[in-house]
Amino acid sequence: MQKHNFSAGPCVLPKEVLQKASQALLDFDNGLSLIEISHRSKSFVDVMEQARALALELLGLEGKGYKALFLQGGASMQFLMVAQNLLEKKAAYLNTGTWADKAIKEAKIFDDILEVASSKNANYNYIPKGYDIPEDHDYFHCTSNNTIFGTQMKSFPKSPIPLVCDMSSDIFSRSLDFSQFDLIYAGAQKNMGPAGTTLVVVKEDILGKVSRKIPSMLDYKVHIDKSSMFNTPPVFAVYTSMLTLQWLKDLGGIKAIEKENEKKARLMYSEIDLNPLFKGFAAKEDRSDMNATFTLVNEDLKETFDTMWKEAGISGLNGHRSVGGYRASMYNALSLDSVKALVEVMSELESKA
Ligand SMILES: *Cc1c(COP(=O)(O)O)cnc(C)c1O
Repeated sequence: MQKHNFSAGPCVLPKEVLQKASQALLDFDNGLSLIEISHRSKSFVDVMEQARALALELLGLEGKGYKALFLQGGASMQFLMVAQNLLEKKAAYLNTGTWADKAIKEAKIFDDILEVASSKNANYNYIPKGYDIPEDHDYFHCTSNNTIFGTQMKSFPKSPIPLVCDMSSDIFSRSLDFSQFDLIYAGAQKNMGPAGTTLVVVKEDILGKVSRKIPSMLDYKVHIDKSSMFNTPPVFAVYTSMLTLQWLKDLGGIKAIEKENEKKARLMYSEIDLNPLFKGFAAKEDRSDMNATFTLVNEDLKETFDTMWKEAGISGLNGHRSVGGYRASMYNALSLDSVKALVEVMSELESKA
């Protein structure tokens, strides 16, 4: 039976990527597995270089002073690394959800953090707007897509200071002028590959401005100087991410996938809005094209609905415990057919009820 994987992360990947990745586990280089050869071998160095180049190419950032790195420790490690590498005196953060809150918590280890705005009072169901970013801070940090609550920043403030963005759950999903950002990071497991690596894209000229000593593993400059090979990289995660980026490029890049993502989101939200049994969680203008959050109006239908979607081959639909209800994550590799399958179950429930 065809599976429809709506998991929020780790998430669905393109079939052909999984096939190539599994083949490489058995035979990547003259009968040797990808995970049993030296990361210094030419064949793996080529993979790393290709992955880094593809990331910059897809984002339209080649030749603009940016470097791409594939690091370890997840996006959560970036909460710490960003502050360690960029925070000298003060930093400004936008608090739009659990992940932003965690980023703030790590930065507070270094100094006091200014929260320019927060939607915590409304359980993060909207994106605050109309705040000011102070010029005398070291950087401004925001989260482009709030995976748990299903909100997404549709535009970004003009920042007088370096703009840092956690794009873990919507990188490579929509066209943006990525050159407005000075540092972007994203855990691979939401839209790019398996868990185990995190993409960091950083504009080199924002580095080297803090006076503290930075441990080597946490220093972006060290990783840049060593071409993202300071220590043994997570070869399988990098290779699989490279395959996904190649898949995306072959499809026509971000512009092409964006059209698909918009179709999926439109279909999903129109069902949520038209079907009287369901209610959307996020404020309409801030709805995420990646993660649609919704609840049943009448909780008595929960058992019936849960049985129905599971029988239809749908998985990963349960909402995060802090929101409840359901969350349909529609990352790049999820097909429009999978969204159609879910919408069908939802309207079937309506006709039964
Ligand atoms: C999942 C997620 C994270 C955490 O990623 P890890 O790789 O597990 O550390 C951070 N930010 C956002 C927006 C996420 O969706």
